[in-house]
Amino acid sequence: MVKLFHKEKVSQEDIKKFYNFCKSSINSEVAAYLEACVRCGLCAEACHFYMGENISGKIDPTLTPAYKADLLREIYKENYTLWGRIKKLFGFGVKIKPEDLYEQVRLAYYTCTMCDRCTKICPMGIDTPMLVGIVRGALTQIGLTPEDLVEATNRAIEQGSPLGVDTKTFLQRIDFISDEWEVEMPVDQPAEYLYIPSSIELMKYPESVAAAAKILNKSGVKWTLSTVAHEATNFGMFVQDKKVIKELLERILKGAKELGIKTIISPECGHAYQAIRFVAPNVFPKEWDFEVLNVVEFIKKMLDEGRIKLNKKVVDVVTLHDSCQIGRRGGVLREPREILTHISQKFVDSVEFPEKNICCGGGGGVVVVHEADEHRRKAFLTKMELFDKAGTKNVACYCANCMLALEKSSKELNRDYKFLSLVELVAEALEDEE
Ligand code: SF4
Ligand code: SF4
Repeated sequence: MVKLFHKEKVSQEDIKKFYNFCKSSINSEVAAYLEACVRCGLCAEACHFYMGENISGKIDPTLTPAYKADLLREIYKENYTLWGRIKKLFGFGVKIKPEDLYEQVRLAYYTCTMCDRCTKICPMGIDTPMLVGIVRGALTQIGLTPEDLVEATNRAIEQGSPLGVDTKTFLQRIDFISDEWEVEMPVDQPAEYLYIPSSIELMKYPESVAAAAKILNKSGVKWTLSTVAHEATNFGMFVQDKKVIKELLERILKGAKELGIKTIISPECGHAYQAIRFVAPNVFPKEWDFEVLNVVEFIKKMLDEGRIKLNKKVVDVVTLHDSCQIGRRGGVLREPREILTHISQKFVDSVEFPEKNICCGGGGGVVVVHEADEHRRKAFLTKMELFDKAGTKNVACYCANCMLALEKSSKELNRDYKFLSLVELVAEALEDEE
């Protein structure tokens, strides 16, 4: 079983390890991204951390996305360009000091949610989250990943979830949800659909798990939960450790295979969708033969097939916060908008182009890192501007992690937005149907 560690001090050996990890992660795709940057600076205005500092009156050029890859770029040049090699030969090579690595922690873990907005703005299409991911992975190898994230990841490995939800607790929560909301929730039944909640929902937003179950029951599909695949989140994605990613995905593979599942439904959780939908087929190219739908896609599919009907307006004027990983990166942008149009008195988009919606400020694991709190709050200022422009306090979300981050920042800044789970709204809209 893999286990991550955290430490405060950096040794020369660690610096070497960091350097070598970065060097060995540079393939042709990474090299192309590192070469392509023309230093135009357009990505600065794309990043909510940079913009949030701006709104609070300070310009911090180190928060420009391109800057986040600078050390990695230097390592690339030293090893793969003629000029870099010559510089090294004459003693002007890359010299990394311990404080440089602490700075990398700030850049990769406190001020980047891997939201991908900068990629969409960059004229060269540079995938900054991919580059930041390499830095995160290198920091994990030497124990510099923030302690909060390391502890949560180790809980996921050892106990089954970052919140410590083991199989026994999972079953207790399912019993509780089933009783409290009077909804049937099959567990470990052979079925076509496997619905995997996240422990954030189970523990903090149980209503949304009950809501998903109601929708699944109403749609008449054969579905189940699994005690083996009971956690959708994958903190290996945050700490960029391939072994952890694989170990956590293996549980889903095993659980789904055991029950003869054809389609896996990932919950209101952004990075879980990325892991299950896009990463898993590459980790298990032969065994992973499931269709993967996010719960919002599932709802849309059921609506299109006429299996469920939404004929009730359950919310007044509402806007939408997109999950970066399900929306921008996963392409599920049209579905939540269409659904909201059905179930609200009025849907007001806060952005002209859905793929340019702004991150909650807590994605990529940032919400659990207490050292990042100040940055997260400043990033939220950019969201406030969008919500206020939309002119409503009602904000629908389709990621529990986003809800958590938005609620936290909103409370800390004394704002009164109301964050609503899209799945819960849909379940409510179903209720008067009979
Ligand atoms: S991925 Fe998002 S948070 Fe990270 S640098 Fe780009 S815009 Fe900023
Ligand atoms: S927008 Fe793209 S090319 Fe321009 S500075 Fe940013 S990463 Fe480099």
